[in-house]
Formats: sequence, structure tokens, C-alpha cells
Amino acid sequence: MKKMKIAISKQMVIAIMAIILLAILTGCSSAAQSSEAEKERTKRPILIQGPMPIEAENFAERLENVEIEQSGSTFEFHIGTVDGYPVIVSKTGKGMENTAAATAIAIEKYNPVAIINQGTSGGHDPALNVFDIVLGERTVNIGSMKTGDRAEGEGIEATEWKPMDVMASEGSAGEDPNAEKARYYEGDTELLAAANRVKDSYTQGKVVEGTIGSADVWNNEVDRIHWFHENYGTSVEEMESASSAMISKAYDVPFLAIRILSNNKTNEGAYNPETAAANQEYVYKVVQEYIAALEK
Ligand code: SAH
Repeated sequence: MKKMKIAISKQMVIAIMAIILLAILTGCSSAAQSSEAEKERTKRPILIQGPMPIEAENFAERLENVEIEQSGSTFEFHIGTVDGYPVIVSKTGKGMENTAAATAIAIEKYNPVAIINQGTSGGHDPALNVFDIVLGERTVNIGSMKTGDRAEGEGIEATEWKPMDVMASEGSAGEDPNAEKARYYEGDTELLAAANRVKDSYTQGKVVEGTIGSADVWNNEVDRIHWFHENYGTSVEEMESASSAMISKAYDVPFLAIRILSNNKTNEGAYNPETAAANQEYVYKVVQEYIAALEK
């Protein structure tokens, strides 16, 4: 058999090598491009919650590239960006149930990297004035209680009521003596640090760390307010933060409550709805600072 000789010229070798090299290079760069795009798409958003329209709208208006999504008839999510980073503003509605549901929906749908629950509150600490801001070093449910043991005709004695921790066990909280304590949810240290770094930018009042108490109750009895301040260490009360903190913890999402005083019964601080906008302006700066830290 005659061997076939294939003549390969120098030029052909160079051309083939060039084609292979080009294929490798374009392959690499398009892989790099798509992984960059993937990263952009998969950046976990920061979730900002506000209960009432006046507590969410200012922040929502400052978002860029916004799309609005709704769940049910009341849960509204403004999906956009701040400084090019994904941020979602959620109008939760007032109260503990709305907030718990809005938090769980947001976590399941949007997988947030962090959650800030913000809005107005009523002062429990006489040293705090309307327009001061409390960073929730901790939040606590102040509506979760066990009453004293009193028979018919023995009356109602609210100062005897004990805190009740529904998360103490899966058994009966009514029978469990270990459940007779308040459960405090710690604010996330990175979020707190970001909030503290920008606190000097806020000029309408003080920014302090403290304890935020939540319940579907508006306390107007000053003695009862003092009682919470002394027994639970509360700085302010409102109706949402501890609920969001509980659900955030269940999913291990970093959480912080940031609440401005819109009223304070302990020092004649009259209700001022303008505080809601002031708080959102401060929280916007906190978010920018937190994004800068995330992007480092
Ligand atoms: N004065 C307003 C109050 C709204 S209801 C009105 O009548 O429409 C309460 C909302 O304000 C809740 O979202 C709660 O988080 C917040 N809040 C402000 N101050 C409060 C207080 N002293 N006690 C309870 N909630 C308070």
C-alpha cells in the first residue's frame, strides 16, 4: 500500500493555531461576561419595610429602575436599585400579622441579604423627643403575655402580667415556667455599624441605640408606659418590628429596626407625621452605607 502523504504548509499550521487560539479567547471572555451578568442578577436585594404609606413612599420614590409587584390585595413591593444595588421597598401594612406575612413573602420571593424595618414609634424613654431615632439594638414583643392566676370575681391586675416567650418550646406556653420571660431579638451588628457610621448626618434629633417594643396595642396610659420602660427596658413602642425580627431570624436573615419617635406621652411630645419622612431620609443613608460595605 502506498502511504498517502498530506502536505501541510506552514501557513496552514499558523491559520489552524490562530483559529484555536481565537476560539479559546472568545470562550473565556464570554464566560467571564456571563458570570458578571449572573452576579448582577443574583445580588441579593436589601429589603426596606414601612407599615403605612407615609412610612414607605418617600423611600420608594427615591428608588431607580422601579417595578411594582403585589402579593394579595395589600402587600406591595417596589423593586428597584440604590446606587446600582438592588433594593426593595415593602409597604407591609400596620401591625404584627401583616408584617409577619409581608416578611415571609419577601424572603421566599426575593431572598433578601438584609431586612430593615423602619417607621414611626411612641416614646417610652422620657429622655427621647419627637424626631429622635432609635436603632433597634434589640426588639421585643410586648403584647405576648401571661396573666396572673385569678378566680372569678378576683378582678384584672395588668401590672401582675408576666412576659411570655412563645418560642421557648413547642409545648404549652401557659404551662411552661421557662416561657415566663421576654424574648429579645438582637439587631444585626453589620447593619447597626452602618447605621452608626452615618448617624452624624442626621440633624433633626439624636440617633441612639435602644430596645424597640412591638404589639398590636397603642399604649396611652403613662404609668403603663413607665412599667414597660422599667420591666422590658423599652425605649419606644410600635406595632411591627418584633414581628419582622422573629421571621427574619427563622430564615437567618440579618435584621435591624430603625424607628423615629412621632410621639412621646412621657414628655408631652405630640404626634407629628412629618417624622416618617425624616426617618426614611436617614434610612436611605444607612442603606447607601451598607451597600458600600457590601460591595467592598
Ligand atoms: N396616629 C396614626 C397612627 C397610626 S396607627 C393614625 O391614627 O392613623 C399606628 C402606627 O404607627 C403603627 O404602624 C405603629 O408602628 C406606629 N406608631 C407610632 N406611634 C405609636 C405608639 N405610640 N404606639 C403604637 N404604635 C405607634
